[in-house]
Parts: sequence; structure tokens; C-alpha cells
Amino acid sequence: MILTSSPRLTLLFIAIACAAGIAHGGESNWFKGNTHTHSLWSDGNDFPEMIATFYKGEGYHFLVLSDHNVLSRGEKWMGVRDVEKRRRTLGHSTMKKYLAAFGDKWVERRGKGDAEQVRLKTLEEIRPRFDEPGKFLFIEGEEITNGFRGLPVHTNAMNLGEIIKPKKGATLRDTMRSCLIAAKEQEKRLGKLILAHLNHPNFGWGITPEDLAHVIEEQFFEVYNGHPGVRHLGDAKHPGVEKMWDLANTIRLATLGAEPLFGIASDDSHHYHGGDVKPGRGWVMVRASSLSADNIVKAMREGDFYCSSGITLEVLERNQDKGTLSFRIKGEDKEKYTTRIIGTRRGQHSDPAKVGEVLATFTGTSVSYSLKDNELYFRATITSDKDHPLPSFAGQKKAAWIQPVWTQPVSKPEAGKNP
Ligand SMILES: [Zn+2]
Ligand SMILES: [Zn+2]
Repeated sequence: MILTSSPRLTLLFIAIACAAGIAHGGESNWFKGNTHTHSLWSDGNDFPEMIATFYKGEGYHFLVLSDHNVLSRGEKWMGVRDVEKRRRTLGHSTMKKYLAAFGDKWVERRGKGDAEQVRLKTLEEIRPRFDEPGKFLFIEGEEITNGFRGLPVHTNAMNLGEIIKPKKGATLRDTMRSCLIAAKEQEKRLGKLILAHLNHPNFGWGITPEDLAHVIEEQFFEVYNGHPGVRHLGDAKHPGVEKMWDLANTIRLATLGAEPLFGIASDDSHHYHGGDVKPGRGWVMVRASSLSADNIVKAMREGDFYCSSGITLEVLERNQDKGTLSFRIKGEDKEKYTTRIIGTRRGQHSDPAKVGEVLATFTGTSVSYSLKDNELYFRATITSDKDHPLPSFAGQKKAAWIQPVWTQPVSKPEAGKNP
């Protein structure tokens, strides 16, 4: 009553609320995002507007269209026949679905019959149809698709202002570094925070755990990528991707004094009409003060995010200074959860069998753990007893991955400043 009858008090209340972040729905919010998506701009099989409609409809707050070595900019026409050829299943044509969703006025075509073409809309054109403050945001990105002597080196960069062209290095590790150096240079020049992450290390058996460890400028890598061809589980000769995380982080902490890697889960989606490389398999949940590209990148650099393929957390407290982690899982009906605390004990780093050991196991929805004196670090993986609804590998269960916790001082290298 007093507030509404006094404009001054109302303004004061609004000012206090804004200062506290209340105006945006709380001091911080969790934002769901996919950092790795392909469209017709490279080798995906749908229009960016159709892909964004899917992700926004599924409750994602941010989406990075990350096509191979291209940004969704400039004039690009595609043959309608070529568009249709990419479809993996029969049924409605890609063009028919696009026209039904966006209408004749929006869809631009030229030519007739076999020569008919459609223009791909740029990110700038489609952004106003999707971006909504606090609800949805496109973050511009690219999959810098590089390689070294036939081994793939793919790095996603998000919040770019310009394209980054892949540049070969003298070694595989220098090739990994070249993307990070280019992203850092652009960040400084354009004044935008740019996050780069190393993708699917086991794809083409491109990257070893030692490579991941020794390129210490690399802060992020994909611990889960939803593409079924990325060899998530490894094979008899190669460790699975989750084990690679422990191998690399153990080398970093035990011998290099460098900061451990943070894990990212993404879709790497290509197929939107049936097919194997589907959207909606893995994502990140980022806690940021508001939904802006800079805030998302900032929060991820601070490790204030987790990865999920179907499990949501209600509470997450990860305290680097104290070496503690506690969280509560948002339990789903009739679903059981197992949390494994995984890490490496001091002095055990040279025995691969003792790297990434299970240090503790919890069942239920509440977990808390503190780093012990004899532990280099720990992290947590939560697994549900329910199958993943869109598995990318045999036997996949719904899961979540929590970032590592460590307390020893580490160096935080900057790309371009190290050898
Ligand atoms: Zn790739
Ligand atoms: Zn990709």
C-alpha cells in the first residue's frame, strides 16, 4: 500500500531490487545451454531457425550454433535438392517443415524445379525471433575444425566476434594451442569474453590424455559429446573420455602444477529428421548473474557449472577454498541415483589403475564430500538407474558430471604466453 501510493518509495524499492539482482528473478540463475550444434551452414541437416525452435522449446536458455569453420554470416544459397538429400528419414520434406513453421514470406527462394535454391538466414536475421531477455540467447560460435597429420583437432569457440581460421602448428599440441591463442587474441582485441573448448578427444583417436594434460592453456574439454561416433567409452587400447579427464587432471596437479580441466557436455547435433546424431543428449547448466554471453563465459571459467545428460541439481555448493562439495539432486519419480566421488590420491599418479579411483559412493539425492589430505582432487559423477532416452552409446544411463575440486595452488596459464 505504502509502496504503490508513493512513487519515490516504489523507485527506491526497484533500485534496491535491481541492485540485489531480484529484478532478474534471483541473485543468480541456472541456465541450460548447448555449446555445440551444426546446421545447414556446414554439415547439419536443418535450418538454424528450426534447430533453435527445438532447443528453445526444450527449455534451453542458450544455444551456440557452431558450424565447421564458418559463422552464420553473409549471403549463402543452397540447392533445395541438396537440403532434402541430407534428410535421414522419409516423411515430410525439410523444406515443407520449414515453410509450415516460418511461412512463405520468411522463406526466401529463387529458381525453379531442380535449380531451386533457398537462402540460409544469418544469425543476425534470426536472432530477433528467438532472443528474449532472461529466457533465450544465441551465442555466436564456430567449431574450429583443425587437424595434425590426419588426427582431428576440433575446438569450439563461443562468443566470437569474427571467424577464426584453423592454423596448423608444428606439433599436435601446438595445433591445439593455435586455436586458444587465436581466441585469446580476439578476446583482447574485441573486448568480449571468448570460451574455447577442446571437442571429442577420442574422435579419430586424435587427442591423448597426455596431450590434454600438457596443453595447460586448455581449460575446457568435452567429457560428454552426444555424437555416437566419438568413442566415448574408448576401446581396449584407449581410455574412455571420462577416464581421460582423470588421467589429464592427475598429470596437471601431480607433475605440472597446472589447473585441472573443466568438463563440458554437448550434443554435437547434426540430424534433426531421424538419423543418429540427434539434439538433446547432453548439456551444461551454468549459474550466472544474468543471461548474457559474457556472464555465461565468466561463470564457466570460474567452474560454476555442471554437465548433464538428464539429471538436474536443486542445490550445488562447490567450495574451492575449503575443498568441499555438496549438492542435492532434483529427484524424479521412481528414479534412483548413485554418486561416485572420483579422484586420485597423492603419490599414486604414476599407477594408471590408481588414477581416477572411486573414493566414495553415495546413494540418494543428498551428497557432501571434503577433500582429504592425501587426495590431489576429487570430482563427482551421478548416474541414474534409468536409461538415457536418446542413448549415444550402448547401456547409457542418465548422468551428471560435477567439476573437480582441489585446493593446492596452481598456475592459470594464458594462451599465447606459454611456450
Ligand atoms: Zn568435431
Ligand atoms: Zn561438431
